Amino acid sequence: MFQPKNGKFEMPALPYGAADLAPALSQESILFHFGKHLQTYVNNLNAALPGSAYEGKSIEDIVKNSEGGVFNNAGQILNHAMYFLQFKAPSMNNVPSGKIAEAIVRDFGSFEKFQEEFQAKGVALFGSGWVWLSVDAGGKLVITQEGNAQNPMTKGLKPLLTFDVWEHAYYIDYRNRRLDYLKALWSIVNWGVVNERLG
Ligand code: MN
Repeated sequence: MFQPKNGKFEMPALPYGAADLAPALSQESILFHFGKHLQTYVNNLNAALPGSAYEGKSIEDIVKNSEGGVFNNAGQILNHAMYFLQFKAPSMNNVPSGKIAEAIVRDFGSFEKFQEEFQAKGVALFGSGWVWLSVDAGGKLVITQEGNAQNPMTKGLKPLLTFDVWEHAYYIDYRNRRLDYLKALWSIVNWGVVNERLG
């Protein structure tokens, strides 16, 4: 998904303006979370690459094969890129369509039941991490909690959708109210992107 250019990873290009996700996520939140937190992970990884075994490798290759500081920064680049690129401006009654909608009903019973389980796992994740929707090798959808910089890819799953539950993701807009933040994100999910990831 992400290849380095001239030995360095670049920031992904957002498909929306920094103010366009409000009120779910404010412009200030995007400017800090995308503009500062993600930029730091990119800078840190780029500084660690020269002379390492990871020079010229894709971000997925690095995530699958590294550990320690390189893994943490590469994982956070991949996780944040998937997070920020899966959003769009908010809309009323923003529900999944197409193949992902059918798979959610098949594996969770209904979109509402899926939302409840996804939110509950996001709220229950202790400390910093991510809640993910992925598809397993048999085509079944699964929800997993991943701590810190982890990505379901390292468990052989194909990641489709993620909500960041590090405090930096919601403290500007929601303070300590993680559940309110998770509920608000449903209004900005671009289900077309999730369908593309499902393939
Ligand atoms: Mn984050």
